[in-house]
Amino acid sequence: MERARAMKMNIRKGDTVKVISGRDKGKQGEALSVSPTSGKVVVHQVNMARKAVKPDPKKNPQGGIIEMPAPIQASNLKLVCPRCEKPTKVKRSKDAEGKSSRKCGKCGELIDG
Ligand SMILES: [Zn+2]
Repeated sequence: MERARAMKMNIRKGDTVKVISGRDKGKQGEALSVSPTSGKVVVHQVNMARKAVKPDPKKNPQGGIIEMPAPIQASNLKLVCPRCEKPTKVKRSKDAEGKSSRKCGKCGELIDG
């Protein structure tokens, strides 16, 4: 099997993202996990899928079917700027030390340090 190459992701865990295409278009939620190797993001309450689970005495003694969010392509998502609250294209810039940072494409807010 070919080894997957990690992608540059503009979305990070904990970000608020908006779905821009697909079944859940228009939904907004928190990025729960990000996988740079697959380029996919799991978003809270988005792309819900049914999954069969084995009985677990601690969490789910009955077992059965649970619903959980399935990963979706990062290209179907846009980051929601914490300042202007609009879905935006992330601008990347590097400072003098070569440290990369993300900025809102709309209002220019620095999204993280
Ligand atoms: Zn903004």
